[in-house]
Amino acid sequence: MSRFHFPFELEIFVVTELESNSILLYDKDEKEGIIVDCGGSQDKVVQRVKELSLKINHVYYTHGHFDHVDFTGQLAEYLKCPITVHSRDQSVYHKQLAFKKRICKVCNDTSVPDILDHHEGEEFHFGRFKGTIIHTPGHSPGSCSFYIPDILIMTGDTIFAQGVGHTRGPGASRIMLKESIKNKLLILNDGLIVLPGHGPFTTIGAERKYLTQYVSDLPQKGSECTSSSSAPSASTEQCPCDDPTSSSQASENKKS
Ligand SMILES: [Zn+2]
Ligand SMILES: [Zn+2]
Repeated sequence: MSRFHFPFELEIFVVTELESNSILLYDKDEKEGIIVDCGGSQDKVVQRVKELSLKINHVYYTHGHFDHVDFTGQLAEYLKCPITVHSRDQSVYHKQLAFKKRICKVCNDTSVPDILDHHEGEEFHFGRFKGTIIHTPGHSPGSCSFYIPDILIMTGDTIFAQGVGHTRGPGASRIMLKESIKNKLLILNDGLIVLPGHGPFTTIGAERKYLTQYVSDLPQKGSECTSSSSAPSASTEQCPCDDPTSSSQASENKKS
C-alpha cells in the first residue's frame, strides 16, 4: 500500500467517488487506535476495528466538508468515543450534513449527530503513540493537520501531492491557506511523511518547491492579496470537495 514504514499500524480506506482517505491508526500491541476522517460508508472500517478488537479512542475530522464527515452517525453508533472537529468548522459540518439529509431521500445514514470540538495544540494518543493537532485554516476556517513528530502529518485538504485545497467554500481564505502552509507546514522537516485527505502519500521535502512557490506572493500583513503574481494560485488548487450548500461547482474539481 505504501513505500513508507511506520512504527504503528496505518490503514487507509478510500471512500466515495471523491476518493477521500479515511485513516485508521493503531498500536497493535496495545490494541488502541484513532480514526481520522470518515467521508463515506464506514462498513469496512468498522469491520476492521472489530476484527482487530481495537479500542478506538477518538475520531478526528481534519475539517467539516461532507467528504470527510459523512457517515458520522454510523461511526457514532458503533464507536462510543468522542468525535471532534475544530470549533470553527462546527457550522460547516452541520450545514453540509443537514444539506445531505434535505436532498437525499435514499442515502444511508442521513443523521447529523452533534460532535465535540478539538483545538490547536491538543494532543492525541493511541497506545504508545501520540501527536499534536495543528490548526491550518484556509481551505476551511477550522481545517486542522494531525502531526506525529518526525513521522507523519495528516493534512486533510490543506495540501496534497503537488496541490493545495480550494478556497471557495464559506469561511475559506486563500491568504489564510498560504499563511498556514508557510508558517505551519513549510517549517517541518523534509523527511516528514504527508498523508493528505485525498490521493497518495508524499513528503514535505517533495512538496517544498511547489509550496514555496505557491506562498511566494503572500502579502505582508495588512495588505490585500493581488492577482498579478506569477505564483500559482487558484488554478492549482485542487480538491473535489466543494461545498454543495453554497455553489453549483460541485463537479468542477473532480480529480481525473
Ligand atoms: Zn476533501
Ligand atoms: Zn475539503
